[in-house]
Amino acid sequence: MAVLSARGYSVLSLPQFTEWLNGAPLPSRPAALLTFDHCYADQLENAVPVLDSLKFPATFFLTSVSLVHELPDVAAHWRNTVLSLTKAGHSIGCHSHSHPDLTRLSMTELRQEVLRSKLALEDALGQRVSAFCYPYGAYDARVREVVREAGFDVAFTVDLGGVKLGDDPYQLKRVPVLGEPSSAEFGVYLSGRFLVSGSVLLYWKVRERFLDRKASQPRREG
Ligand SMILES: [Zn+2]
Repeated sequence: MAVLSARGYSVLSLPQFTEWLNGAPLPSRPAALLTFDHCYADQLENAVPVLDSLKFPATFFLTSVSLVHELPDVAAHWRNTVLSLTKAGHSIGCHSHSHPDLTRLSMTELRQEVLRSKLALEDALGQRVSAFCYPYGAYDARVREVVREAGFDVAFTVDLGGVKLGDDPYQLKRVPVLGEPSSAEFGVYLSGRFLVSGSVLLYWKVRERFLDRKASQPRREG
């Protein structure tokens, strides 16, 4: 975040990003959008204070199963969490209801995963939820279409790259930041000069998938 700040990046909120994708000018260049999948405890404990101190808005993608948890305390905790994030200027997006690989579901199950999560999040927030993030980065034409039909404006993958005008809004690339890259490494990500071979990229995706799966195992607390 210090590198973004030092390089004069304008860190966009989700609404600013979506407006830009629809043709509005950027507040300034270069620009970045920060996304976090799952609202993991370490994101809330470590990342949010840094983001808030720099006034960097971010988007957190949540699985809605947390909001309708059988334990009322857990459900209340997540409702409070998403409300306080939006109050601080961050955005909340959908990461499906229960984090399945959406490409493997029947049409009925797929629609349910996508719509149910949107409705549950909107109910908790009292506002429209406009962004989706594919669990495990897994999507195909059918999944994209269901997400679009459900009324999302944008959807994010774990395909490596930046976003440029004219990109399919339901197939947006990201640059996964895994582990703790040095400032120099992170600077290389930002430059777009990440020269990665096909096999490195595959490793990256598999690793992301593994991390995502491991971390999405049911947890007792929060
Ligand atoms: Zn995930």
